[in-house]
Amino acid sequence: MPDDLAPRIPLDRLGALLGPRGLLTDPGDIAPYLSDWRALYTGASPAVARPASTDELAALVRLCAETRTPVVPMGGNTSMVGGATPDESGRQVIVSLARMNRLRDLDPLDMTMTCEAGVVVKAAQEAAAEAGCLFPLSFGGEGTATIGGVLSTNAGGNTTVRYGNARELMLGLEVVLPDGQVWHGLRRLRKDNTGYALRHLFVGAEGTLGFITAAVLRLFARARETEVALCAVADEEAALAVFRRFRDRDETAVRAFEYMSGTGVALYAKCIENGVVPIPGHAHYVLVDLASSRPDAGLRGLLEAVLEEAMEAGEVLDAALGESDAQRAALWRIREEHPEAQKREGASVKNDVSVPVSKTPELIRRASAACARLIPGVRPVPFGHMGDGNIHMNLQQPEGMEGAAFLARSHDIMETVNEVVRELGGSFSAEHGIGRLKTDMMESWRGGAELDVMQRIKAALDPQGLMNPGKVLP
Ligand SMILES: Cc1cc2nc3c(=O)[nH]c(=O)nc-3n(C[C@H](O)[C@H](O)[C@H](O)COP(=O)(O)OP(=O)(O)OC[C@H]3O[C@@H](n4cnc5c(N)ncnc54)[C@H](O)[C@@H]3O)c2cc1C
Repeated sequence: MPDDLAPRIPLDRLGALLGPRGLLTDPGDIAPYLSDWRALYTGASPAVARPASTDELAALVRLCAETRTPVVPMGGNTSMVGGATPDESGRQVIVSLARMNRLRDLDPLDMTMTCEAGVVVKAAQEAAAEAGCLFPLSFGGEGTATIGGVLSTNAGGNTTVRYGNARELMLGLEVVLPDGQVWHGLRRLRKDNTGYALRHLFVGAEGTLGFITAAVLRLFARARETEVALCAVADEEAALAVFRRFRDRDETAVRAFEYMSGTGVALYAKCIENGVVPIPGHAHYVLVDLASSRPDAGLRGLLEAVLEEAMEAGEVLDAALGESDAQRAALWRIREEHPEAQKREGASVKNDVSVPVSKTPELIRRASAACARLIPGVRPVPFGHMGDGNIHMNLQQPEGMEGAAFLARSHDIMETVNEVVRELGGSFSAEHGIGRLKTDMMESWRGGAELDVMQRIKAALDPQGLMNPGKVLP
């Protein structure tokens, strides 16, 4: 049956299931849920369901399956690709997991915590810290993004170089399947070779295969020593050479290694209140973050020794070392405020791409040059996780150009960057996922056997196509 003939959800039955706190139907209450964080899309929806437990959610999903009602899972709604935004049909019910935010268990001996999907990442970090442990996932949206959301997008962030993506931080899952069955897979096992690893299907599926309702997450020893340095480097190759020096000396010490362009750092100084840059005026920077759980790790010695070598080699031109927690946080702020600085400066086009780590300098150089040929005066603002090969190859509108006119070229810009990414053996979406924004690229990048298998998995688990329609798969 075509979608426009599908019956509408009976809101009275939904209300009876979820209670007054569990269902929003007033247009004013629903409005904040209809747009994505980047304001790329605004959809329509008859209701926002806010279940308080896995059983409530399962009953809701059964009702939606019975009435063929499409659903859109939502966590913190920080998706960069419109993943949690409904379409314009007005038929898709938004299901917010925000009320399912209990920490079910934390075991410092197993080094695991079991969180419900709606737990905010920052709250998970704090709970782990209170128990003397570390939950290492960290990125700019951590104060709003949820555990269900970061697993569903397989988020990366600043510490991937050391701890891996969200997928590597997950041992077990609880999932409500599209037919309303609950899969109880909350195992805390490091070893469990018992058939297909189902849990990995749901990580990165962006809500198209089911609802993640809870997860067992890995914890680590907390850092007892940290060092942060902002370094001005000679060029892109020098940036990578410095990374290699640190990794060769002590691979386990590098917690984050971030590249920033001089343009981005200057935008931070210009657009962000109290945006102080201790070593201004350079064309390329890296932010080095070292951490160790050993109290006597001697990280300051390591940092100084490597920087001295790199300065002698002409790779590092200048460096500012954080002498206190406040100073270290201030250095990190330069990197973390890049998206906000870009927003305040005007229109920008974001490209979250990855290449093999060794190719990051070539990516930055070639993509910047290609975009400058496409739009004279465009300002490349590449930054991000050089240590794991993920560069946010962003472009800022030329000074004096209308924002709308620049954004009208978004597609050309993305194509131009992606051409370079493809030649370097990279990916068109490193950590933000596909959502609604990049579905039309799937055929050309993942077409053939890969996309065919994805579509068959989707059809097997969600034959009615009700889970987050229009996302991920073309
Ligand atoms: C300032 C800022 C900085 C960021 N930096 C990074 C970064 O460095 N690295 C990075 O990887 N990302 C980054 N992001 C992107 C973003 O934080 C991630 O996409 C995040 O993982 C989404 O979490 P969320 O709870 O907000 O999910 P939402 O945005 O609500 O949803 C994201 C997707 O997951 C689905 N979903 C949500 N919850 C569930 C669930 N329980 N079950 C099934 N599906 C679900 C949604 O349908 C949607 O498709 C950043 C975002 C912001 C705003």
